[in-house]
Amino acid sequence: MNIILLGAPGAGKGTQATRIEEHYNVRHISTGDIFRHHMRQQTEIGQLARSYIKKGLLVPDEVTLRIVGIALEESKNENFMLDGFPRNINQATELDKIARIDKVINIAVDFDVLMNRICGRRNCPECGYTTHVSQLGGEGTCPKCGSEMQQRMDDREDTVKSRLTVYTEQTAPLIEFYKAQGKLFEVDGMGTPDEVFAEVRKVLG
Ligand code: ADP
Ligand code: ZN
Repeated sequence: MNIILLGAPGAGKGTQATRIEEHYNVRHISTGDIFRHHMRQQTEIGQLARSYIKKGLLVPDEVTLRIVGIALEESKNENFMLDGFPRNINQATELDKIARIDKVINIAVDFDVLMNRICGRRNCPECGYTTHVSQLGGEGTCPKCGSEMQQRMDDREDTVKSRLTVYTEQTAPLIEFYKAQGKLFEVDGMGTPDEVFAEVRKVLG
């Protein structure tokens, strides 16, 4: 089964992706993670991606489609879960030409909580653990491995505003796109990660 995770920034796609990956036999493909990897490695793609990501804009489709094409090629004969892709109608149309999608899960979260979730998000650069600053109890260190927790450059308030605008204008229309294909499943993303995952399991079986 091939899955797409849809949802606004901060809806909890990454958190659910980790759980889905542990319970179902799917390969997690996150375009955001791939771009961040390129940025750390300072590749040409990384440098180009950075100039868009830091402004909260989408990386041009031509580049995004190329990295997704490579990732799908690598996961040939394997089930996959796309996280952060597609993000506009053109990407979804192109995806339909190269892969078969079975289920699309839309994680729905009230808009007013997204800002707080994203601006409070902290990540561990060593082990990838992600949590909210309120869960760190004043400690700046990772509860899993002890490294210094960091904030993503695009999780600062001004960038988050443009990410949410981009989401509303370009990504939200995908909900109707996949509804029309009969593939859309709605999940309430307002609960705890475990509660949300319980809903996800009802969809995935
Ligand atoms: P979030 O879902 O929290 O916004 P991601 O890690 O998925 O975070 O994406 C971070 C940034 O990477 C996006 O704001 C965008 O600039 C870029 N990006 C990720 N996926 C795509 C995509 N499918 N198309 C264009 N840009 C993308
Ligand atoms: Zn860590």
